This record gives sequence, C-alpha cells and structure tokens, in this order.
Amino acid sequence: RQSSALLLFVGAGLASIVAAAMGTPVLAAAFHTPPGKAFSMWLSSEWMNYMILLPSILAWPTRSLPRPASEKLFPLLQAMPVLMVVVLELISYWMGGPGALVFSLPALLWCALSYRIFTLTIITAALCLSKLAAVALGSFDFTPEHFLETVSFRIGLCMLVLGPLAVASTYMARNDLMHKLRHAVNHDFLTDVLARGAFLKQGQYLLQRCSQTQSSAAVLMLDLDHFKRINDNHGHAGGDELLRRFSLMLTSVLREQDLIGRLGGEEFAAVIPRVDHATALEIAKRINQATRDLWVSHQNERIHATVSIGLMHVQTLSAHQSLDELLQQADHALYEAKAQGRDRCELRQA
Ligand code: GH3
Ligand code: MG
Ligand code: MG
Repeated sequence: RQSSALLLFVGAGLASIVAAAMGTPVLAAAFHTPPGKAFSMWLSSEWMNYMILLPSILAWPTRSLPRPASEKLFPLLQAMPVLMVVVLELISYWMGGPGALVFSLPALLWCALSYRIFTLTIITAALCLSKLAAVALGSFDFTPEHFLETVSFRIGLCMLVLGPLAVASTYMARNDLMHKLRHAVNHDFLTDVLARGAFLKQGQYLLQRCSQTQSSAAVLMLDLDHFKRINDNHGHAGGDELLRRFSLMLTSVLREQDLIGRLGGEEFAAVIPRVDHATALEIAKRINQATRDLWVSHQNERIHATVSIGLMHVQTLSAHQSLDELLQQADHALYEAKAQGRDRCELRQA
C-alpha cells in the first residue's frame, strides 16, 4: 500500500524504542555506559537493523511472477539502475564528506521505479551493509566514543532505505490501481468478458494479424433465445445469473487465443482465429449443446436457455477485412438462425 513504507519505518522505530528501553540497563551495567548514550546507541542500531532486514522479509515473493517482456528483451537496459547505484557509490567513496551517504539516492529511486519491491529491498540491504562495512573499516568504530557520528550515520541509513521503499510502494499501488482500472474499462462488469468497445478494438487487431499470414478466421454472433421471457418468468436477477454462467461456459468451450465479448444485453460475439469452417461449425454446435445442458438454480427453480448463433467464416483474410463487416454478415446468419426456429447455428462463408 501507499503508506506501507512509512508504517514500517514508524513501526520499526517504536519497536526499537521498546528494545532500547530493555537493553539500556544491561548496557549501563555491563559497560558502565551513561544511560542516555546506551539508549541512543541501542535504539539507532535496532532501528537500522530493522530497516535493512525487514523490508526483504516482508516483500519476500510468495509466488513467482512472470517477468515483464522488457526484461527479456533488454537485459542490459534492465541492469542500468543497479549499475548506476554502484557508480554513484564509488563516486561517494572517492569524494567522501557528509553528503556521501545519500549520493546513490537518485539511482535507488530509479531502481524503485524499475524493479519489483523485493529486488529493491535486496539492493538497499546490500548497499547499507556495504556502507556499514566501509565506514567500520575507514572512518570510525561503532563504539560509544563515536557516539554522535554513529547514531547520526545509522539514522541516516534508515532514511536512505525509507525513501526508495516509499516510492516503490506508491508506484506499486498506482500500477495495481491502473491495472484494475484498465480491466474495469475493458471488461463487462456482469460477465467479465470483453466489453463492446474493447472487443471491437482487439478483434480488429486480431483479424489484422491473421491477414498478415493470410489465415482463416471465424466470427460468431450469439444471442440467447427468448431471454425476455426468462426475465419475465424468473426475474432480472435470475437472468443475470444465467448470463454469467453462459459467459463462463463460452470461455471454457473456446480457446485462450479466441476473443469473447458482450455486445450488449443477451448478445455476445466471438472471434476465432486460424480455424477451418468445419471446425468453426463444430465449435458453434458445441456451444449450442453446452447451452442446452446449462442451467441455473434461482429461487428453487431451474432456469434453462438455448442460444442462436450466426457464424461467418473467412478462408483467407485480406488486409482490409473489417470486423464490423464480418459481424454484420454473422448478424445476418443469426437472423436466419432465429427465423429457422432458434437453438441452432447458421453458417456464411467467404
Ligand atoms: P430472441 O429469441 O428473438 O432473441 O428473443 P429475446 O427475448 O431474447 O430478445 P429481445 O431482444 O426481445 O429481448 C432481450 C431481453 O434481454 C430484453 C432485456 O430485458 C434482456 N436483457 C438485456 N440486458 C440484460 C441484462 O443485463 N440482464 C438481464 N437479466 N436481462 C437483460
Ligand atoms: Mg435474444
Ligand atoms: Mg437480442
């Protein structure tokens, strides 16, 4: 969530206060450290450790996600943000000074926008550990003699982790939202198949791709029979449930590469690429049969339906073939199917 990084930061801070409150008497007794110093040392160390280790544990991937296509295409480009972290780190060691702690921040922000959160947490953890090692070897030891530098350095590291993490979680929440929004725009809210606009757009694109290889394709128009009667007899909710089940059945009968859309009401359409006319007809008949077998239980009654299908098959698609035109032909075939008594499929070919 957008606030996750900040919550982690504050939560880790509170936990560190509790830990420091318990550790202070021990430090004071064992090493005779003044309580104020002991508390600050313990608190800063605890907080820094949490901020280095906890993000990776919390962001540990619970399932493997497919890599984005860009990662496979441009591995070097994909490595640029992390390489930039290394470069800026080297510059910070070369220049030194108090600002050196945050030299790599721009590259870390780039990482936050480029990688998954888990990858980012590994990068920030590695960066912090290398900084700790370098500082321990070079400028000062983490002992009470360097009390102020130590506390300041550790808190600085916490802030360094917080920045990119906050950006990454905000970015992730935004992407998630965009994904949901895009889905909502492109899909029908009742049946979750493609909505009219998205179906027409994606269908046209699919036909264009098929025409490049002069492949065949079939376009189906499907209209549930006497649906008004179903609504009248069983209520609108029963009709809605039937529409949902019908869409699920369509999705299971058709293949993954086929497009299904709800054009409106009880009217659906499908584009089936690379299919000969006999197979297309067989698929349509299978849909007819599956619809006959389909039933929905609503208010202790079973609702049944049948579907009429208009099928337009093109053996060799040309570059200028429009989906609109094919849908029109399929619609004529559908009209014939209705006229012939419904619950059947009529075929047109070109
Ligand atoms: P035909 O066999 O000739 O297609 O008859 P029909 O009754 O199916 O066709 P008609 O076009 O006369 O009626 C379609 C009905 O579909 C009318 C409308 O109430 C219903 N309908 C449209 N959209 C929805 C919806 O989202 N949910 C429900 N439950 N019904 C809908
Ligand atoms: Mg109808
Ligand atoms: Mg209709």
